[in-house]
Amino acid sequence: MTSHDAPGTALVTGASSGIGWEYATRLAGRGRSLVLVARRAERLEALARDLRADGVTGVETLVADLADPDDLARVAERVSGDDVDLLVNNAGINGYGPFAEADATLLDRVLRVNVVALTALTRAAVPGMLARGRGAVINVASLLAFAGDLPPDPLPRRAVYAGTKGYAVTLTRTLAAELAGTPVRLQVVCPGLTATEFHLGAGATPVSGERRTHDEGGMPPEDVVTASLAALETGEVVCVPGLTDPDAVSQLASAELEVRRGSGGRAAERYRRGAA
Ligand code: NDP
Repeated sequence: MTSHDAPGTALVTGASSGIGWEYATRLAGRGRSLVLVARRAERLEALARDLRADGVTGVETLVADLADPDDLARVAERVSGDDVDLLVNNAGINGYGPFAEADATLLDRVLRVNVVALTALTRAAVPGMLARGRGAVINVASLLAFAGDLPPDPLPRRAVYAGTKGYAVTLTRTLAAELAGTPVRLQVVCPGLTATEFHLGAGATPVSGERRTHDEGGMPPEDVVTASLAALETGEVVCVPGLTDPDAVSQLASAELEVRRGSGGRAAERYRRGAA
């Protein structure tokens, strides 16, 4: 067992379903205490009951809407607790749909959950982790962060969602570089289509009813979490669970470097042609 797998407390957002439920179950199996966060109290209680029945001790539920500033503050307070040495920012909603027709309130909610909450909780977690000399943050992004300008169909209409996941990737990579040399690890995991409830709604309200899987199918959430926890041990910052050749991630970094290196201190010639 390494220092990043020793039994401390893990706080998992979006633990009432899908990938978050799987993180919680697997981390409990590794001896961790858990704080389970989501809106659906009954789901969290059901998971907590299952875990306790399996002999897991130290399971807390924290019912919160991460889009609500007061709720977010309560979760941030818990994240900053001395015992929390793993934060999994997994909660996310999609707000999919044509941008020009999107409900502005829903888009605001997408930003609050996927960007504001993820950032605030990371900020709440890191200082204590640095002070205690151990800890890790896993941010769940998406392969759609890398879909760029690929047209919709079969991909969803996703401009804001993809933007939020691009944010999670950039925040995590940049913060990992800032914290290199400290004992705190950062990871961003970028699943492709995953078999959860994610596509059953846009995220304004929780999906009702029993736990189930959307019709689109996808990778089992178990595989996403297996990849993420393995990558945490090896220190891989960008974890793409289905990616066979990890060199593709290095190539991405090389292409970024080229854009920066090739950029001079004056407007490029093609922009100045015909300028007044
Ligand atoms: P699910 O819809 O199954 O789970 C989403 C989780 O987020 C639920 O537990 C939900 O709980 C929680 N959540 C949503 N809104 C809020 C909120 N306002 N406050 C607190 N919790 C909230 O989807 P997944 O498990 O698939 O999604 C997990 C992550 O994986 C997301 O970040 C998603 O973007 C990402 N992802 C998913 C993919 C997929 O194809 N499934 C692909 C790539 C990335 P509750 O409703 O009870 O609040």
